[in-house]
Amino acid sequence: MIKIEKGIASVTDGERVLVVDRSGRLLIYSNGRETFRRSLFNQFLKVGYRDGERNVALLNERDAKLVALEAYDFLREFKADLSFFIPNIDDLGWDFLLKDSERLFKIYKSPVPIVPPDQYFPVYIQITVGCAWNRCTFCHLYRDQRYSVVEEKELIEMIKGLIDYFGPSLPSRRSVFIGDANALLIDHERLLKYLKIINNVFNLPIYSFVDAFLTPEKLRNRDLETIKKLGVERVYFGVESGSEKVLKLLNKPMKIDEAVEFINSFKNSGMNVGLIFLAGAGGKEYWEEHVKKSSEFVSRIELDRKDIIYVSPLHEYRDLPYWNTSERLGRLRAQEKLKQFREMKQKIREEYLEVNQKDLQAPVVLYDITESVY
Ligand code: SF4
Repeated sequence: MIKIEKGIASVTDGERVLVVDRSGRLLIYSNGRETFRRSLFNQFLKVGYRDGERNVALLNERDAKLVALEAYDFLREFKADLSFFIPNIDDLGWDFLLKDSERLFKIYKSPVPIVPPDQYFPVYIQITVGCAWNRCTFCHLYRDQRYSVVEEKELIEMIKGLIDYFGPSLPSRRSVFIGDANALLIDHERLLKYLKIINNVFNLPIYSFVDAFLTPEKLRNRDLETIKKLGVERVYFGVESGSEKVLKLLNKPMKIDEAVEFINSFKNSGMNVGLIFLAGAGGKEYWEEHVKKSSEFVSRIELDRKDIIYVSPLHEYRDLPYWNTSERLGRLRAQEKLKQFREMKQKIREEYLEVNQKDLQAPVVLYDITESVY
């Protein structure tokens, strides 16, 4: 069976399922036993479930290649009916995917390290490179990256490059994600100008990460309303923890009251929010404090069903400063982080109900940073 919709073709024989875009890029393949997702930068993820929770692993190149070849062989079983939609169907294979990702590397100033879990199919526009803070002790995302804001002419070149890159599959992109970290932090006039350009070209809902500790004084309510009018639908906050003690260990200088007020001002301006917490932050020593204060934090945000709360298991890296801290505090094992996620989910719901006298409508979802590839 073949289904074609908005620049995407899905094919299935009842067991196997393959999703490709109109340019022939492999997006998702399931052989009936295992499911794989490919990022535009040619990373292959095996997605499954363990202990009732989503489990994701990055494939090595040899295994990724085997998956790609199997998927494209399957696709060619539908060649007679698909050639009109994917004219290059005979050329699809590993070399095609490698060349395709090389094109993307040339468009961006640096590879895209992360997108939120619900933003796998956006057009990513890099208006900043790296992170203006870049000092959180656990974060490896932009470690070697010098922070910069792209010039207007670079933005226009990037947009042209992306339109050319996506070609006939552009309609398969459902949103625009502006990055990298804290893209909304840039000079406000410049931000509005960039949003206008992006909105005029793509006319798609816009999403972005924002940090609640660098940005507050720079964005006032009135500015947020303009941002909303220019297409920004949802912003994602790396809250990490509702405990200032835990945040201090992470070297994230966020003031809780200020962050609550700031996040609520996005809600008041009509935007949705994504709140991201870290399972395992503060180790065994701060387990209770982290869960309790994070639940209290959520209960102070005016959330509805369009918002989302993510809990991401913290990955500790030996070469980052937080490694020694986590050693001292008692690092949680993977199963313990999962346990903390479940506990946090329950506490968040209970606290929200108690404080607001209504059920929390926003989902509380586990997500693994491994999966957050573009
Ligand atoms: S966690 Fe966010 S604010 Fe901290 S260094 Fe990483 S990207 Fe920057």
